Amino acid sequence: MTTRISHFIDGQIWNGPSERTAPVYDPATGVAGKAVDLASRAVVDSAVAVATGAFKEWRDVSLTKRIQILFSFRELLNARKGELAEIITAEHGKVLSDALGEITRGQEVVEFACGLGHLLKGGFSEQVSGGVDVHSVRQPLGAVAIISPFNFPAMVPMWFFPIALAAGNTVILKPSEKDPSAANFIAQLLKEAGLPDGVFNVVHGDKEAVDALLEHPDIKSISFVGSTPIAQYIYETGTKNKKRVQALGGAKNHMLVLPDADLDLAADQAINAGFGSAGERCMAISVVLAVEPIGDELVRKIAEKMPQLRTGDGRRGCDMGPLVTGAHRDKVASYVDAGVADGAALVVDGRNPVVDGEPGGFWLGPTLFDHVKTDMSIYTDEIFGPVLSVVRIKSYEEGVALINAHQYGNGTAIFTNDGGAARRFQNEIEVGMIGINVPIPVPVAYYSFGGWKSSLFGDSHAHGTEGIHFFTRGKVITSRWLDPSQGGINLGFPTQS
Ligand code: NAD
Repeated sequence: MTTRISHFIDGQIWNGPSERTAPVYDPATGVAGKAVDLASRAVVDSAVAVATGAFKEWRDVSLTKRIQILFSFRELLNARKGELAEIITAEHGKVLSDALGEITRGQEVVEFACGLGHLLKGGFSEQVSGGVDVHSVRQPLGAVAIISPFNFPAMVPMWFFPIALAAGNTVILKPSEKDPSAANFIAQLLKEAGLPDGVFNVVHGDKEAVDALLEHPDIKSISFVGSTPIAQYIYETGTKNKKRVQALGGAKNHMLVLPDADLDLAADQAINAGFGSAGERCMAISVVLAVEPIGDELVRKIAEKMPQLRTGDGRRGCDMGPLVTGAHRDKVASYVDAGVADGAALVVDGRNPVVDGEPGGFWLGPTLFDHVKTDMSIYTDEIFGPVLSVVRIKSYEEGVALINAHQYGNGTAIFTNDGGAARRFQNEIEVGMIGINVPIPVPVAYYSFGGWKSSLFGDSHAHGTEGIHFFTRGKVITSRWLDPSQGGINLGFPTQS
């Protein structure tokens, strides 16, 4: 018996027919017990009509009331995050503690958006000219779309919708078809929190649904997170269709370890950031740049600690879960094959792991390569799996040059006890998010999240003040309350007096 997952439109689960569906797997068993509806253009059009209609009233609901609803949502999320974490683990595969972690980080943005009353304040200048005042306001855009990836089915949507809703927009979320249930759970919680029907909608689907959103004239903005080729396509198509677009793409995050670093700490952090969530994080560390002469010692420390990791079903207290689908597991394994064929030294081979889980799960164990060269595909490409590559380098300068030359610029980290080197690194490096002895430097909600180069298309990062600007547009009002002394004709350009 296959469970059907369908859209959430106008406050309820859609129950019309669906021409196309996609299987949804439990990655720890390999069983596809669910199928998700893939929206046609007509379904997207009806969701957009609902969101556009709901905008007329929602934008005029008082700011106080909008924030109270978000606050209630925050309370409900707190009470029921365990259920949401189980939903995430059942479809994504990440271990339960990790699923709870992503909810907590998403919830930070809800808490940030609860302060939007302060953050939306405009400016006021009195008497800029005789009897003339000027003030500014920021207003919502309308119906906005969020298109999210599989790897953070709760956190990534929460980077955007709390701010969008608090600012008075209505939302259509198109989550990944690989783990769609978290979005419906969130939609239901928002309804229970008092959000009017039609203000937050979920449309499931693939390219057809995304293209329908990109081309629909009533969708005012697109917030996309996913792989770089799709992010670029979204940015180009969305802006061509006159939308505001922020499109966050892929990553290849380097960790530069200087010879003065605490190597035990660096080894622990490389493991945590390389293999957490099976490497399926856009802020995962996938390359360690070891400045000689520490290479041998650092690789030995990492390799010695890796057997402690228990790979298995995320519901069984393991450290690392399966990959999201069989196809993705095979793709990641093919990179391991390529690394071996290219001549990298395979220190720990995860291709036949011992697991605490069902044999049909999409398993791949933690894998470590040493002596990786920068022309190998395991270095150039985003692998998005539990594969860590160590590149031996001669100097700090060589490390900076490599990071800056890479096409991705999402996150990076330096490990050192030298404050001067760390300060120089933060100044010279061409990457959006930098950790100093912090391996996954995901900014807190009141700063903005986003990379540089091929890791982000558009000029707005997610959440923080950039998020507020993205989901609002500014107006400046110049006003004068006339009296008869100000009459008379004058065609000159207005100047202050
Ligand atoms: P993906 O690009 O395959 O999918 C992302 C979204 O795009 C999904 O909703 C999917 O349905 C849709 N999509 C897929 N193919 C499409 C197409 N041809 N046309 C239009 N839409 C399409 O990404 P994924 O595999 O779900 O997620 C992993 C990727 O996301 C990695 O590259 C990772 O680095 C990236 N990511 C980046 C960040 C960041 O902040 N930069 C955060 C999380 C994930």
